[in-house]
Amino acid sequence: MPKSKKLFDSAKKIIPSGVSSPVRYFEPYPFFVKKAQGSLIWDEDGSEYVDYCTGYGAMILGHRHPQVISAVQKQLNTGTLYGAPTALEVELATLIKKAYPSMQKIRLVNTGSEATMTAIRLARGFTKKKKIIKFEGCYHGAHESMLVRAGSGLAGISVSDGIPDDFTKNTIVVQYNNSEQLDKVISKNKDIAGVIVEPVLGNMGLILPEKNFLHDMRKMTKQAGIPLIFDEIITGFRMGLGGAQEHFGITPDITTLGKSLSNGFVISAVGGKKEIMDQLAPGGKVYEASTFAGNPISVAAGIASIRTMSTLKSKIYPKLAKQCLTLAKSIHESATKYGIQHQVNAIESMFQIFFTDKPVTDYASSKRADGKKFHKLFHSLLNEGIFVAPSQFETGFLSYAHTESDLDKTIHAYDYALRQVRQ
Ligand SMILES: *Cc1c(COP(=O)(O)O)cnc(C)c1O
Repeated sequence: MPKSKKLFDSAKKIIPSGVSSPVRYFEPYPFFVKKAQGSLIWDEDGSEYVDYCTGYGAMILGHRHPQVISAVQKQLNTGTLYGAPTALEVELATLIKKAYPSMQKIRLVNTGSEATMTAIRLARGFTKKKKIIKFEGCYHGAHESMLVRAGSGLAGISVSDGIPDDFTKNTIVVQYNNSEQLDKVISKNKDIAGVIVEPVLGNMGLILPEKNFLHDMRKMTKQAGIPLIFDEIITGFRMGLGGAQEHFGITPDITTLGKSLSNGFVISAVGGKKEIMDQLAPGGKVYEASTFAGNPISVAAGIASIRTMSTLKSKIYPKLAKQCLTLAKSIHESATKYGIQHQVNAIESMFQIFFTDKPVTDYASSKRADGKKFHKLFHSLLNEGIFVAPSQFETGFLSYAHTESDLDKTIHAYDYALRQVRQ
């Protein structure tokens, strides 16, 4: 990839590590993108890839979906930022609420990180308590209180330099899929302001919640009067129009949405119970603000996305689930055929393979998977024209634009790549 190599060499001189977000880097250097359309993405050297990174899950309708693009083009004619409210924001919030009835009131923000930061601040402001429970391996954005892992103990230790313990000491980390541990922490601790969770864990590879985990969590938090925050930034509009909360039949107190909400434009949302959301300034005392929040371009994209997804929902979600199941099954069959120890986790339109003999149900079991093998798989897939996220700890995402022939190509590519992994 001579052009990408050259671009990366220039990028490194002016952009730290040559990338605008760390997950985009991989050895020896990432490909630089020229354009994307539907299920496909092209690099600067002219190579074409079937895209399963899909903007880390954001492009659920595929790249450049005509309805989304034309809504944005139309909005470009009437302005891009006003610094004053618009009818469009009311329309988008109404559409979100219709799909997520638990979000009685909604505030629009830009990124997922802002949404979860606000959700946590709201939980603390509402309860007047300090501590937040998060689950090991869950990612909720790159801000102080959430860049924490557990390691061995339950004490919050940051995974990033530049975050003093003062910021993380109020974050308690609990093992994913461990209701007992959650119960113990909740019953021992009287200062808990909220519990935040990815209802399906998409940032540690793909990890599914075990049968009663989310229901137990809802029961315990309700009994203890602790707001439950569903971070649906990946699962929202992807597990179904109504996200994981609809899929599992659970009503959280606060929800965050992002990624698939607008199919590739910068917008996220935080919403929940009226009495919690009404804590936000200027009416309430929990402060949150942004120049670009609710900008008409992103909002127009969000409206067009949700309208498209709700009109087509009986087509989109069954198709995605069926294709994903086919793909997951084929990957499993190929890996089995080559005698490779592996696990395939999949749900709805998300999938991932792990090179380990034990089921992957939490942070520790995901960490046990062989990352070197994954790296080899990734590069072999890339050579075959398939782009999945470069890390074992990400998830593969299908979009509505993926065709049967994309899928056939992908199944063959995985078979070929897994044969390389065995060697
Ligand atoms: C991507 C992601 C975030 C952060 O969203 P940004 O828009 O990258 O700030 C938060 N939570 C989850 C579950 C995510 O996958």
